[in-house]
Amino acid sequence: MTRNFLAIGECMVEMAPTGEETYRLGFAGDTLNTAWYVRRILPEGWGVSYLTGVGRDSVSEEMLAFFENAGIRTDFVQRDEERTVGLYIIQLNDGERSFSYWRSDSAARQLARDRARLDAALVAADVIYFSGITLAILPKEQRGGFLEAVKTARTRGAAVAFDPNLRPRLWETVEAMCATVMAAAAVSDIVLPSFEDEATYFGDAGPVDTANRYTEAGASLVIVKNGPGEVLWQADEGPRTFQVPPVTEVVDTTAAGDSFNAAFLASHLQGADLETSVAAGARLAAQVIGRRGALVDLSQAV
Ligand code: ADP
Repeated sequence: MTRNFLAIGECMVEMAPTGEETYRLGFAGDTLNTAWYVRRILPEGWGVSYLTGVGRDSVSEEMLAFFENAGIRTDFVQRDEERTVGLYIIQLNDGERSFSYWRSDSAARQLARDRARLDAALVAADVIYFSGITLAILPKEQRGGFLEAVKTARTRGAAVAFDPNLRPRLWETVEAMCATVMAAAAVSDIVLPSFEDEATYFGDAGPVDTANRYTEAGASLVIVKNGPGEVLWQADEGPRTFQVPPVTEVVDTTAAGDSFNAAFLASHLQGADLETSVAAGARLAAQVIGRRGALVDLSQAV
């Protein structure tokens, strides 16, 4: 029987510099990145779908074709008659990358508007994956309904995985971000935070504090990533740590956390023990940060 992994969020058009005043058009977004890697790792018996919103214009069509070419199912992609997809441009100034975004009225922001459609997508999922960015882009009056829908799906038996991915610039206030992220953790089984962000916005003194906070919110498994530092995970048996492999040449840390989550979840969902799954996450992330770009084609990666 097919099992279904459903990622929910926003994929954007990415314009990446290729030379003097020329850019390459690509597609990326935190939850999409995770879905892309999950699809590459999970065997055929798993379906991987992406729930987002796109428009009816040609770049939206291109995005859908990109999902399908990657093996990601588009059944739950919502078509918006009035909006299109968000976009960002990467600019290089003396080797430093800077990002400019056009995403404030993107079609993906409407993904929770129609509760019946949202429920129909969630009911088909065995695993639901979303992030703090998924929540941030929703109109604030729709966030509660989105989390209720996730909670209902979980009550019916779906496993829920959540990466807080704290991005205060996408939220009205830091307080709203922190409160909503904790509400999301309360409807999640697995929470996958990154310590540096958690320390900044929640004031955690160490990764154990981050793990305890999300455990107290209701998560049964918390995996705290920490850049090149140890990954700390906490399940029933208390905290354990894993030293990630050193990476001698870090080229581009884009999607480090997204790819870690993908390889961790794919391994965990196939029944591997937690240490093996954390190691798979760290191994993929190490390969991804050794190359440029979010979506790195590494057929030998895991
Ligand atoms: P995010 O991209 O969400 O900020 P982190 O920086 O915590 O996530 O990194 C996620 C994972 O990527 C880490 O747990 C680790 O496995 C790997 N990683 C990130 N930076 C490095 C690094 N400098 N050296 C080795 N591994 C790294």
